[in-house]
Amino acid sequence: MINVVNLSKNFGNLKVLKNISTTINKGEVISIIGPSGSGKSTFLRCINKLEEPTEGHIYIDDMDLMDKNTDINKIRERVGMVFQHFNLFPNMTVLENLTLSPMMVKKESKEEAEKYASYLLEKVGLSDKTNSYPNQLSGGQKQRIAIARALAMKPEVILFDEPTSALDPEMIKEVLDVMRNLAKEGMTMIIVTHEMGFARNVGNRILFMDNGEIIEDCSPKDFFENPTNERIKDFLNKVL
Ligand code: ADP
Ligand code: MG
Repeated sequence: MINVVNLSKNFGNLKVLKNISTTINKGEVISIIGPSGSGKSTFLRCINKLEEPTEGHIYIDDMDLMDKNTDINKIRERVGMVFQHFNLFPNMTVLENLTLSPMMVKKESKEEAEKYASYLLEKVGLSDKTNSYPNQLSGGQKQRIAIARALAMKPEVILFDEPTSALDPEMIKEVLDVMRNLAKEGMTMIIVTHEMGFARNVGNRILFMDNGEIIEDCSPKDFFENPTNERIKDFLNKVL
């Protein structure tokens, strides 16, 4: 479904992604793990064109993200994103956060967008917050709303960039539970995470990044039980 071919990204002289290639299939739940500064966020951001790659190609089915004629709105429709710091629109209610893009980008009617938004709010357990503003919500609630907002576009894949890293410990579970349910329903997900339990038990594949490269691509079982690479052993010794 997603095909990354020889992707490189430089910021000035800094080579942040070095000739990355990988394929992601429909329904896969991929955890991207690796040390800080290894290029994980940059890689995710290239997949929905928040960053412009320096070289290489990314295809979503047969849509070429690097093609100048590819409509950026079409990319954002197909590829949802959830950020560490939620990035909700602070001056809009929860309902308005969920309906804005479907109405603006997908040209859904207000009625249609609101109907789907209430379905999603029920799904993330926050129907009672429909008319609240983001600053009236806890961190865990904000992140569940951010996930619902991504889902409102009916994306084919959702990218998560450390979705629980900014949360107090007691709120992590409620967000991971929503993500686990999405995974069960077959949503394709790419998740940059430090939650090793989630990567091990929910994800079906691990990409380990170091210094701008994917240096391991394997099952969670192989990654956690038989790491062979010294850099991975070193990383796991620090986090486990
Ligand atoms: P990670 O998410 O794995 O921590 P990032 O993708 O955020 O890593 O960053 C990789 C490297 O690229 C870091 O050295 C970071 O400082 C650098 N970098 C990221 N974004 C920019 C930017 N917009 N301009 C310059 N350097 C950047
Ligand atoms: Mg990052």
